[in-house]
Amino acid sequence: VFVCFEGGEGSGKSTQSRLLSDALTADGYGVRLTFEPGDTVVGQEMRRIVLSPETGELDDRTEALLYAADKAEHVATVVLPALERGEVVITDRYVDSTLAYQGAGRALDPAELESVARWATGDLRPHLTVVLDLEPEAGLGRFDERDRIEGESLEFHQRVRAAFLDLAAANPDHYVVLDARGTVDDIAAAIRERLAPLLAQ
Ligand code: C5P
Repeated sequence: VFVCFEGGEGSGKSTQSRLLSDALTADGYGVRLTFEPGDTVVGQEMRRIVLSPETGELDDRTEALLYAADKAEHVATVVLPALERGEVVITDRYVDSTLAYQGAGRALDPAELESVARWATGDLRPHLTVVLDLEPEAGLGRFDERDRIEGESLEFHQRVRAAFLDLAAANPDHYVVLDARGTVDDIAAAIRERLAPLLAQ
């Protein structure tokens, strides 16, 4: 089973993905908790380049291709091998982040971006995507230091948020959208409930 967490800055993805991983591990499942960008040796370099303020201006296509390269390496060396071992793979960000940030955010053509992302991932799609929805004003306020993306305008982050919601609305069978302002425990319980039927299959 392949589960993705998506959402804007400060929406609690890393907390919730870790809680889910801990809960499933306690229940006896083999779990691989991972994230994008940066959970491979090559990906760490990509992450440094795309997020370091020292990078400065980066052409939108260059940025999108660096994320795509991170994704290709991630799927080939982390996600697929774990799925083949029968593990539950939980990733903090995946293709939807690209569609939201590089697509809606940077205004690259969504259809072109999607085909690059599908190519990079061999069209591997999650069984469930959890969108933790939060207004950008609230999420960005949770950080003191900002990386290249967090420093983008509020409007950029509003487009990103809308893109996640649109993706979920277009394919409700494979998404659950949760209000990130809920308590950590309530959100974790809602995720477990939504995932239960998938784990039982
Ligand atoms: O989830 P995390 O905070 O680790 O993500 C790192 C940064 O990468 C975030 O600022 C996020 O906005 C950005 N990002 C992006 N495009 C992606 C994935 C992540 O701009 N496809």
